[in-house]
Amino acid sequence: MARLHFQDEAELYAYKAWESIGLEPPVDLGVVAKRLGIDVHEREFVEEIDGVYLRLPGAPPVIAINNSYIKPPARRRFTLAHEIGHHLLGSRISPGSRLFFLDTNDTRRTTMERACDRFAALLLMPESLIRLHYDQLAYNPGCRVDIMAERFGVSAWALRRRLKELDLPVRMRRRA
Ligand SMILES: [Zn+2]
Repeated sequence: MARLHFQDEAELYAYKAWESIGLEPPVDLGVVAKRLGIDVHEREFVEEIDGVYLRLPGAPPVIAINNSYIKPPARRRFTLAHEIGHHLLGSRISPGSRLFFLDTNDTRRTTMERACDRFAALLLMPESLIRLHYDQLAYNPGCRVDIMAERFGVSAWALRRRLKELDLPVRMRRRA
């Protein structure tokens, strides 16, 4: 049954992406961006930059991700999902006007930035699938985080944070 109630826009947009595109973990973010008409570029920026979102009137929106070797693939994926969040969550900010976000190591944690992080976490790690894989790996609690991080294409750190949000214990006592 289709869901009707959402805590916030981040949750609504993440849900819509899964409903409309038929995604599977690890989420193909290129497909999501393409569906939204966003041009995604990767290039090497100075190390403090993670990613950029740019919307200009009359041109496709642009996301640029820092692909410097110091940014691990899981980190780049989270940044791309975060920038897609800027596109969706920014769609109500004076539509048609210029919109620009620069995400760095120390980007101020505004309401918008937190909402984009939340969108990224929900897009990459939907609750129902996280619970399913978590249960499936109950026999292997010691390696569960690493296996799930690999399956969802996220860092172990991001996965642990998501499990915590969902009240799923990260370490379980081994059965005798
Ligand atoms: Zn941001």
